[in-house]
Amino acid sequence: MKKVLFICFAILATSCQGQNTNSEAKKEVKTNVVVHEEYSGVEPTKPEATEFYEPVVPKVNPKNDKGVPSDAIVLFNGSNLDNWISAKDSTEAKWHLNEDGSMTVKDKFGDIQTKQNFGDVQLHIEWRSPAEVQRDGQNRANSGVFLSGIYEVQVLDNNDNATYVNGQVASIYKQHTPLAMASVASGEWNIYDIVYHAPEFNAEGLKIKSGTLTVMHNGILVQDHVEIKGTTPYIGWPKNPAHGKGPLRLQDHGDNSRVSYRNIWVREL
Ligand code: MG
Repeated sequence: MKKVLFICFAILATSCQGQNTNSEAKKEVKTNVVVHEEYSGVEPTKPEATEFYEPVVPKVNPKNDKGVPSDAIVLFNGSNLDNWISAKDSTEAKWHLNEDGSMTVKDKFGDIQTKQNFGDVQLHIEWRSPAEVQRDGQNRANSGVFLSGIYEVQVLDNNDNATYVNGQVASIYKQHTPLAMASVASGEWNIYDIVYHAPEFNAEGLKIKSGTLTVMHNGILVQDHVEIKGTTPYIGWPKNPAHGKGPLRLQDHGDNSRVSYRNIWVREL
């Protein structure tokens, strides 16, 4: 009997000890919340102490003119190609201007780029591959949107058209596979909404902070603030040449891609 009582007591003691440890752990978690370095000193006890009224947030009309935000720079609205030049020799951008307010890659003309240079931007751009498909893989309606003129967000007709996943539609070419394949049918308009933060370089030309890209493809998050590892070449490693602001460039893949673009605007960040 004595032995049984002793065992019961031992079990009870162990169980109580466990409860103590748990409650102490909970207490530890509660009191050990790390506060951001921005906040120091004695914690305020009144709500007004943590409410700010300045600087006043700028007002933006999101649907100002034809759906373009009031603070955006319109780069292409269908009327002309005045904001664009040949990326090769800075001459007039002679891509096809279509009656429906779009432009189409002029085969073998080469890439075109904006006259204006940009740093960090929010970019809206719509693109369409031809309804009548030609060829396969990387040769089916291949184009691209290059931030700072050198970092490509891939444009490709991937519908029933497999290719390497880090080079498929909405990839950061050969660096980041998209999280989803969100294309509409061939011949319909796709939308890219891109947030680009340019890399930073020191006075010696060394990269001190990587750039980042976030891409929404038809409203679907496909690149989630990914690190830009460098340029996006077809062959070889990404490189990191120092640069400041740069143009937005659109690709002529050189194989009669017939990709069209419309409604292009940026908001400088
Ligand atoms: Mg491309």
